[in-house]
Amino acid sequence: MMMHDEQTKITFFGTSGAVPEVGGDSPTFLINDKYLVDTGWSVIDNLRSRGHDPLQLEYLIFTHFHHDHYMSLPSLLFYYLMRGRPLEELKIIGPAEDLHLIVRRAIDFLHAERYGWANLSPVLIPLTPGEAYEEENFRLDTCSTAHPVQGLCYRFLDKKSGRMFSFTGDTAFHPPIIEHVRGSALLIHESALGPIAANPDKNDYMHSGAIDAAAIAEEAKVGKLLLLHGSAQIAEPCVQAAKQIFSGEVQWPKDGQTYII
Ligand SMILES: [Zn+2]
Ligand SMILES: [Zn+2]
Repeated sequence: MMMHDEQTKITFFGTSGAVPEVGGDSPTFLINDKYLVDTGWSVIDNLRSRGHDPLQLEYLIFTHFHHDHYMSLPSLLFYYLMRGRPLEELKIIGPAEDLHLIVRRAIDFLHAERYGWANLSPVLIPLTPGEAYEEENFRLDTCSTAHPVQGLCYRFLDKKSGRMFSFTGDTAFHPPIIEHVRGSALLIHESALGPIAANPDKNDYMHSGAIDAAAIAEEAKVGKLLLLHGSAQIAEPCVQAAKQIFSGEVQWPKDGQTYII
């Protein structure tokens, strides 16, 4: 059996709703200091204010392309240009339907031709639900979400630590996620609708309540459930509601909080 000394580290920068509170951000987090999940509104500030060098990022992983999850992508690309890091060194993973278009538009927004910036070509890794991506240090498996745009629910295997965790991105209650995340030490599941179960007939924006997230976590027998994507006011009620359904530990991460699994 292979022995692992390494740990897997997840640091949260934001857990708020689509329009964050002052000083907060919509859901973004950093895996092992070098893989960033979604950019939120303020990616550069979030990284630098917590001692992370944006130039050290190896991968950007997008759950889906709603604005609150990619709004500050142009800031990140501009930072790279100003600091002289070639964009080809950044790899961007995301839902195949929108990845090329959104990155192209972020680069167009920077008006690259006027300033003579050549080679603005990050490496794009589009995935459709069900596809996997694997490299030396990690493996990502994906499944579909239930959301108005194409999304990916990711299962992240850290090959160095042997640990596995999953994150849903935005989604309504979606049973295929149960099998996909089974065995995860940690499940990060949105609960934007608050401490309730969503009414499927009145869920136009296709989000989950804490009861929906907890039902997924309980069925999948994950180790721990982390809830996010709402204001500070709904955090504790969501945790309490989820605990009625899920027998494991439930938390709502604080900004800047790091989880070691
Ligand atoms: Zn969102
Ligand atoms: Zn969304």
